[in-house]
Amino acid sequence: MSAASDLTRRPHSSRGLADISATPAPAAPPARLTVLAGPTAVGKGTVSADVRDRYPQVWLSVSATTRAPRPGEVHGVHYLFVSPEEFDRMVAGGQMLEWAVVHGRNRYGTPRGPVDEHLAAGVPTLLEIDLQGARQVRESMPEAQFVFLAPPSFEELERRLVGRGTEDAEERERRLATARVELAAEAEFDVTIVNDDVRRATDELVGFMGLAVGRNAQVGG
Ligand code: 5GP
Repeated sequence: MSAASDLTRRPHSSRGLADISATPAPAAPPARLTVLAGPTAVGKGTVSADVRDRYPQVWLSVSATTRAPRPGEVHGVHYLFVSPEEFDRMVAGGQMLEWAVVHGRNRYGTPRGPVDEHLAAGVPTLLEIDLQGARQVRESMPEAQFVFLAPPSFEELERRLVGRGTEDAEERERRLATARVELAAEAEFDVTIVNDDVRRATDELVGFMGLAVGRNAQVGG
């Protein structure tokens, strides 16, 4: 069976957005942790940035990373940019909910304290992390919900990876091989959202988090 035909299966996405938004929210819903993961180049970062822009009622966890900031990235907003020594210290101090080496290079991790604090305060919390990290969170916080962001097809994923133009042919092949393995992890997740359109995917994610979905979403909207 080809990867593309695998992608036509959406066994756990039958729960429609309409069903979710039709469910009245309890007066004081307990905040729940949602984990968004998916293969490389699927657009996790774009979807989570859209959540940050349009749904300020969701708190997006700020990961620590040892990689250097890219132009426009702000310490404390996009990442906590830390030295390898500082990252070591955070891991040794038990401060990471999860962490992983991503793409064989830099380390990324979720600081545990802010996640616990936001959940305790009743704030819906979203982690955008890689698959290794998602598996660690499943071990330590099985009550979290796990969302797999999928490309419309493997061919589309390939097109996005090529279109990005940031990797040479060898690196692209390496990432595509990784993506094939990563796509096979879909069945481990509670729900799949297909990233065919960023706003639609964001709205589906936010709806799955139990929040009201709106065209111009506002706080409490
Ligand atoms: P980038 O360097 O392009 O911002 O992110 C590279 C990868 O790191 C993405 O796949 C992203 O999901 C992942 N990532 C970002 N933050 C974390 C984190 O805190 N933990 C883990 N495990 N992966 C992360």
